[in-house]
Amino acid sequence: MVQYLEERQAVLNCAREIYSSGMVTGTWGNVSIRVTGKKLMLITPSGMDYQTLEPEDLVLLDLNGQIVEGKYQPSIEAGLHLGIYQQRPDINAVVHVHSPYAVAFAVARKNIPVILEETAQVVGHEVEVARYAHCGSQQLADIAVQALGDKKKALLLANHGLITLGEDLTEALKVSYIVEKTAMISIYASTLGTIHSLSPEDVSFLNQSFKNYGQEK
Ligand SMILES: [Zn+2]
Repeated sequence: MVQYLEERQAVLNCAREIYSSGMVTGTWGNVSIRVTGKKLMLITPSGMDYQTLEPEDLVLLDLNGQIVEGKYQPSIEAGLHLGIYQQRPDINAVVHVHSPYAVAFAVARKNIPVILEETAQVVGHEVEVARYAHCGSQQLADIAVQALGDKKKALLLANHGLITLGEDLTEALKVSYIVEKTAMISIYASTLGTIHSLSPEDVSFLNQSFKNYGQEK
């Protein structure tokens, strides 16, 4: 019997959702959580079909990257996820997708602007593009962790994809959806004319007041 069955099921549900929502195709993308109160991370395995994945197929690692439990290799981006948990005590979940509209910005190497109130509320900042490095490399992990800093919730990986962070999986997944929607609306709006971003003051106000809603997250 594997440990953390409930947590494994939550990671698996999220992995299936990023696939069914079209934010990844095939076995791309990956999902992890910090096991609360422990110096451990649960992550999807490398290159396995999310539809047939079982909770025990997920890989449990310590924060130095040693496998604690698991019969498969962890996602190739495990180093990136580990780097985030090491740097960000506020973060307990990381979602990585290749959603098409966000990736369009990652290819154009342009920041996704804060054009919607939802973006200000849920993300709270422009989504920048990290410098290009090969997928799965330690260099990519280092670049991304540095670019995320101590506050950012989302980052584009040049010519690759999107990484989103949250206090929990619900938040990390929500940030992915909102960033993808923001990227889509930006592209449509730019075909109609000038894009008007929200001012930094409005972004800050909306982000702060959203945190105090209580009901929503
Ligand atoms: Zn990727």
